[in-house]
Amino acid sequence: MRELAAQPRWSQADLWDLFDLSPVSDSDIAKYLDITLAKCVSWFRASGGSIFLADGGDRFGLQAKVGAQSKLPEDAAVISGVGIAGIVAASGVARLIDDPTFYADMSEIETKQSISSSMVIPLVDVRRRVIGVLNISRKTGEHPFEERDLDQAVALAAHVTLAVTNAQMVTRLKSTVKETKLANEKLTAVLDSVGGAVIVVDGDGEIVNKNSTAEEDILAPSAGRLGESISHVIWDTLTLHETVKKPFYDSDFDRTWMVEARPLNSGGAVITCQEITDHERQQRELGRVRRLAEIGQMTAAIAHEIRNPLTGIRSAAQMISQHPETMPDFIGAIEEEALKLNDLCDEFLEFARPMQLNLQPVVLSDVIGDVLKVLKPLAEEKGIEIKFEFSPGGEQVQLDIRRVGQIVHNLVRNAFDASQPGQSITVSAEGGTFRVTDQGIGMSEEQVAKLFSAFFTTKSAGTGLGLSVCRKIVDAHGGEIRVQSEVGKGTTFEVCLDRNQK
Ligand code: ADP
Ligand code: MG
Repeated sequence: MRELAAQPRWSQADLWDLFDLSPVSDSDIAKYLDITLAKCVSWFRASGGSIFLADGGDRFGLQAKVGAQSKLPEDAAVISGVGIAGIVAASGVARLIDDPTFYADMSEIETKQSISSSMVIPLVDVRRRVIGVLNISRKTGEHPFEERDLDQAVALAAHVTLAVTNAQMVTRLKSTVKETKLANEKLTAVLDSVGGAVIVVDGDGEIVNKNSTAEEDILAPSAGRLGESISHVIWDTLTLHETVKKPFYDSDFDRTWMVEARPLNSGGAVITCQEITDHERQQRELGRVRRLAEIGQMTAAIAHEIRNPLTGIRSAAQMISQHPETMPDFIGAIEEEALKLNDLCDEFLEFARPMQLNLQPVVLSDVIGDVLKVLKPLAEEKGIEIKFEFSPGGEQVQLDIRRVGQIVHNLVRNAFDASQPGQSITVSAEGGTFRVTDQGIGMSEEQVAKLFSAFFTTKSAGTGLGLSVCRKIVDAHGGEIRVQSEVGKGTTFEVCLDRNQK
């Protein structure tokens, strides 16, 4: 009997062995628990043992059994607070049981008469949570456990708890890795089925995933400059944290690509690269056809514009050749028509030239004031009053002075042409916005719809280019021009040149 009571012996190496997780499989730790339990039972020279682990809530399910406790049914469980094992689980305090009848609550499982004593030890983790219950028992006839056995069992249980939590973590990790692998395989299958090339990079720009198209078309050494272009787009996205989309034309192969990189919330980015060669060609062709059509329309309009003054010049010349004495009368007309042709050429060139702005910080009302100084005498001659409303000391805005002056000039001249003597034109300015309002003839909806089309004019001497040029200048400033008009009541043009105020 004395011998049976001998101290359990486990060495430091034995404790380390508890942490050998090689028996842990991808899906469970059953085998690992069996081995661990067998070790505990043998160290305490016991004849049976079981391990119950928390499976969420108050229930601890049977996970391992050995020796005299092998008869435990597979679905045996300890319920927190119920029975001795349940009280141990609820209180976190180990119990030594030497009266087998106490064990009744563990159900039929125990052959009561075969058990002489038991140690029921809670497995308490570092956060003081009971993750399970370890139960070690000796048979009748064997030396019953003593308090010092229990002390040792509690010390051992600390190691067992750590090892078991480790094993549980490893299982979870393994199953997460497995799920991730599966998800990755699915993702790769999806990416491969996508038409274009797709690359996923991490926050350092390293490729973490790619589809086969990307591998063949973009990442192959033959991809050449396309690869470089993609690197730039990736870099821009990662530094700016915004979607970057750029077309790339590969002149070596006459192919065009659209490269788009979207930042991911987790860092990194997804890059898609779609070949748009055919689409680009079609667009270019469409653009060419459109331009040809525009050129055709414009040529007709220009010819029409040139023909009017030319007809005037020709008839004046005819008059002079037939009646030389009328020369002083007609020479003036010829000069006037020639000047008109000159103006037309200027306006047309202005219209056709690409707009390049010379921006500088200026107060808009100063620019308007300068233009109105020139126009006021003309207006007075016609009996039209020009009112200028603005608050002095206005803020500065980035503008091209000459171009904005041109807009004001065009709008006020149009207002003149639409007004009668005695009427007034009001110009008002605030910040980067100004308005020109007249009380003139106004326009119908149809007229307003055509207003900004090149060569639309209702004037015998008009070119119909003034407002087209105005819109071009406003667009170049990133601004907006709006019209409000009513037939017989007047018209207001509003120009906003500050893109932030649009
Ligand atoms: P143009 O002055 O040479 O006719 P614009 O492009 O400046 O060319 O103007 C086009 C047309 O828009 C004018 O012919 C006129 O019919 C109409 N229009 C422009 N401004 C006004 C206005 N303030 N009131 C009425 N009609 C206007
Ligand atoms: Mg005009």
